[in-house]
Amino acid sequence: MKKDRNIPVEKNKHYVMQVEDIGVNGEGIGKVKGYTLFVEGALPGEEVEVRAVKVKKNFGYGKLLKIIRSSEHRKEPSCAIAKRCGGCQLQHLSYEGQLQYKTKKVQDIMERIGGLKDIKVLPTLGMDEPYHYRNKAQFPVGKTEDLNIGFYARRSHDIINTDECEIGHPINKEIIRVIKGFIKAFDISVYDEVKHRGLIRHIVTRTSHHTGEIMACIVINGRSLPNTVTLIEALKAIEGVAGICLNYNQEKTNVILGKEIKMLWGKEKIVDYIGDLKFEISPLSFFQVNPIQTEVLYNRALEYAGLTGEEVVWDAYCGIGTISLFLAQKAKQVYGVEIVEPAIKDARNNADINGITNAEFFVGKAEVIIPEKYVEGIKADVIVVDPPRKGCDGKLLNTLVEMAPKRIVYVSCDPATLARDLKYLVEHGFEVDQVQPVDMFPHTTHVETVVKLNLTL
Ligand code: SAH
Repeated sequence: MKKDRNIPVEKNKHYVMQVEDIGVNGEGIGKVKGYTLFVEGALPGEEVEVRAVKVKKNFGYGKLLKIIRSSEHRKEPSCAIAKRCGGCQLQHLSYEGQLQYKTKKVQDIMERIGGLKDIKVLPTLGMDEPYHYRNKAQFPVGKTEDLNIGFYARRSHDIINTDECEIGHPINKEIIRVIKGFIKAFDISVYDEVKHRGLIRHIVTRTSHHTGEIMACIVINGRSLPNTVTLIEALKAIEGVAGICLNYNQEKTNVILGKEIKMLWGKEKIVDYIGDLKFEISPLSFFQVNPIQTEVLYNRALEYAGLTGEEVVWDAYCGIGTISLFLAQKAKQVYGVEIVEPAIKDARNNADINGITNAEFFVGKAEVIIPEKYVEGIKADVIVVDPPRKGCDGKLLNTLVEMAPKRIVYVSCDPATLARDLKYLVEHGFEVDQVQPVDMFPHTTHVETVVKLNLTL
């Protein structure tokens, strides 16, 4: 490569760098003579020696050679494969350090993208025990020399063979042990994603935090699995296993689950609770993966909604209606809208099993349904939005401004699009009252934020 005169860093040379920030993949970010380098394993506040391994026009990548001055928040990861696994990015940062980082990240983005200079972001609400929180696990199954079941390595589809996970449910270890034994005993083929051949693709488990019920699901590239009687007997013996099923996925795709489920034994749905509300979860249903923090998040959203029992509320991007039903307990009427039809089916079922009659659900795009219903006369006092990473559609934001609810509660999984949308709402008659990050995914760089906006006009 030709050397660019404007780039002050050369490939393969060594540099000393002060780390200032953390990138989306957990890398340390710092500057060498004004040029940005991303360095895996380095932490903010550290002085490190790095070797430039990739030099691009505006930024490059460095390999960490030595930590000259270590961060007070550096810690030894409790997981043996933390450095290689794609699941966690921040295990080398103390939990306190992770929470501080998340608060700062939201604060910085609010200022930089949202132009919200006067807002004080509240400290991130973390977990008392930030381990083994996930109620869903997806283990790819494959083969190199030996049978591999575990997790994908970072930036690759190589499977790291493991049955331990610091953020997953400990019972998964037993389930993997049984299925591994079964595959070996009957010499069952496992999936090769390059050749699109072999039978067993993934093991997916769902566990209920409150009832302890477990659903074990085996995803296969085919329509049947031999010797299931033996497998069922062995899995049934694990305490808590309430349902065992197959999922058919014969597509050449990275999507883990296919559309069809075949029950082999037990219940089709396991039951879990969020607060007092009961939810039935099938292997295909969406459900928040951190049950403890979901409750923290929803309680905050409910508090911000400020309901007295008289309000009409919209829950946009409602999924299986979890937030809607939470709100319905304190509102006059709740309307939920969600684009995925099976999720709305679940939402209606969840309303039924909880005896909630003041929640109505619509299938469709929030930016289409809410404006339509507004024209028909549905005007909300409070609107909750919980969009995917890309944030709210402009048409929806326009309708929010037109409808002028007293309050908007914005739940977001991406602070950048959140800040963009807040900027628009602030320019059109709302003020940001509270910004509360919640740590739904300890040891990862993700941060969830709930914001309360008030109408100022
Ligand atoms: N509020 C739910 C789910 C939020 S995830 C909960 O707390 O569990 C975001 C949801 O938005 C997903 O279920 C996704 O299917 C849905 N979605 C994506 N685009 C949408 C759109 N344009 N209109 C309505 N829903 C949409």
